[in-house]
Amino acid sequence: MTDETPAPPEAPSGRSVLVTGGNRGIGRAIAEAFVAQGDRVAVTTRNGGAPDGTLDVRCDVTDPEAVEAAFRTVEEAHGPVEVLVANAGITHDTLLLRMSEEDWSSVIDTNLTGTFRLVKRASKGMLRLKRGRIVLISSVVGMLGSPGQVNYAASKAGLVGMARSMARELGSRGITTNVVAPGYVETDMTGVLTDEQRAAIKQQVPLGRYASPQEVAGAVTWLAGDHAAYVTGAVIPVDGGLGMGH
Ligand code: NDP
Repeated sequence: MTDETPAPPEAPSGRSVLVTGGNRGIGRAIAEAFVAQGDRVAVTTRNGGAPDGTLDVRCDVTDPEAVEAAFRTVEEAHGPVEVLVANAGITHDTLLLRMSEEDWSSVIDTNLTGTFRLVKRASKGMLRLKRGRIVLISSVVGMLGSPGQVNYAASKAGLVGMARSMARELGSRGITTNVVAPGYVETDMTGVLTDEQRAAIKQQVPLGRYASPQEVAGAVTWLAGDHAAYVTGAVIPVDGGLGMGH
C-alpha cells in the first residue's frame, strides 16, 4: 500500500440501487438481496408487482422517455443511482432461417439497446458522484452460443463488449462495470422448456442442476459491494460450470 492508494470506499449500506425487471425471476431475487442488506432499492416493472420494501417504478426499457422518467422518479425518492443492475431481458427463440426481423430487433432492443439506455443515463449521475457500480445480466449463451438463440446470444455477447468499454471509460471516476453470466436458472424464462430439454441441459451442467435466482443475486451483490471494489470489466459466470469460466 502506498500513499497513493485510494481510501477504501464507504460502507455499502443505504445506497440508491436500481434493478430493472425486478417483479419476478432473477431481478426479484436481486432486489430482495439488496433490501436485505439495507439498501434503498427501486425496481422497474411494466405492470407492478415489485417486492416489498422497494420503490415500484414503471418502465419499459424499450422506451427512452420511460427510462428517463424512471431515473427522475428514483432520484427524487432515493437520490442518484449508485448501483444499477440491468436485468430486464427477453427471449424470442427460433432457428436462424425462421428468425424474423421482429424476432431479432425486439430481443436486441430490449436486451442490448435497453441496457445502453440505462447505463448511459445512470453513468451521468455516477460521474458526478465519482463512484458507482454497474452490473449487467448477460448469459452463458452469449459466450457458448445456442441453437435457436442467434438473437439472444448476440444481445448477451454484446453486453460483454459494452461493459468492458465502459470499464475503460469510467474506471478512472470510481465506477466499476461488470457482467454476471448465469447458466440455467429456475424462472419463468426457463419454465417453458420441456422435461426432455431440462434433462438434457442438466446432463451438461457439471453441478447437475439449475441455479436458484438467489444464487445469481449473490454474485450481483458481491460485485456491488466493498469486497469487489477492485473488480471491473469482469464476467462472473454463475452457471454450475457449464461454461467452464467463460
Ligand atoms: P423472467 O422472464 O422471469 O423475467 C424477465 C424480467 O424482465 C421481467 O421482470 C420482465 O418484466 C422484464 N422485462 C422484459 N422485457 C422488458 C422491457 N421491455 N422493459 C422492462 N422490463 C422488461 O426472466 P429471468 O428472471 O429468467 O431473467 C432475467 C435476466 O437474466 C434476463 O436478462 C435473462 O436474459 C437473464 N438470464 C436468465 C437465465 C435463466 O436461465 N432464467 C439464464 C441467463 C440469463 P414483465 O414481468 O413485465 O414481463
